[in-house]
Amino acid sequence: MLDNLTQRLARVMKTLRGEARLTEANIGEALREVRLALLEADVALPAIKDLIAAVREKAIGEEVIGSLSPGQALIGVVHRELTKLMGDAHSGLNMATQPPAVMLMAGLQGAGKTTTVGKLAKMLRETQKKKVLVVSCDVYRPAAIEQLKTVAAQAGVEFLPSTSSEKPVDIARNALDWAKRHFHDVLLVDTAGRLAIDEAMMKEIAELHAAVKPIETLFVVDAMLGQDAINTAKAFSEALPLTGIILTKLDGDARGGAALSVRHVTGRPIKYAGVGEKLTGLEAFHPERMASRILG
Ligand code: GDP
Repeated sequence: MLDNLTQRLARVMKTLRGEARLTEANIGEALREVRLALLEADVALPAIKDLIAAVREKAIGEEVIGSLSPGQALIGVVHRELTKLMGDAHSGLNMATQPPAVMLMAGLQGAGKTTTVGKLAKMLRETQKKKVLVVSCDVYRPAAIEQLKTVAAQAGVEFLPSTSSEKPVDIARNALDWAKRHFHDVLLVDTAGRLAIDEAMMKEIAELHAAVKPIETLFVVDAMLGQDAINTAKAFSEALPLTGIILTKLDGDARGGAALSVRHVTGRPIKYAGVGEKLTGLEAFHPERMASRILG
């Protein structure tokens, strides 16, 4: 078992040569423990650096130094800064457009895009009473189109069939046209994902984006990727004007560091979290709760 931050800091306080207090001189050691705890939670280094800088400034500036329980005070500062870096409050899907609101899913194969389309469709239909259409532009894997069909049926929303002989851009354009003519409120566009980032894939999704001008371009990323999430996020945010992130597989044992890393590179809010394979496994993302998870 890895030590959590509370245990780590308690140890630092004990070993600080009998000083019960955190001072400007010895705060470095405490921050080192913070850094290790974040690394163990799989936060990527650039994000850690920013966080440590912010924490140091706050800790020296105010409540920690001189506090009677400096360890606790420091954890408080770290928790607040983590929350802030992850976006403070929950932000939902943007629908402020002439219907249909088009939402494009982007991400690697296996990230959870198709499942997430089903989850969002179900949520939009059930809780927001929206008329939802879903379509798959994954012409490389016929099984992916079938999977979306199944998921749409489970979510109780309309599925527009597509085939692997069509071009992804044509599929998306046709779907948009269909959604307009049949008065759908939302069109969710599932896309192909490769196992690794490649140029052809990025070009294709950028073309899809240009063709349907989505109000939401959602980057779906597997929380279990840990630090690797940062490279994927970078590639996608360079290829597309992302509007938000969906972090999947948080029901697994990922410590959640990917949340901070992805937010750090893209600057976009994490809107939802995937917490299971079933279509009910979707939660609003709460930065504050994620901060607690990262700190352990
Ligand atoms: P895609 O290739 O990006 O469309 O990914 P899929 O939607 O096919 O998902 C890949 C695998 O991850 C499937 O086995 C899903 O059931 C699973 N999956 C997706 N989201 C979650 C989640 O939030 N939690 C868990 N445990 N599994 C998930």
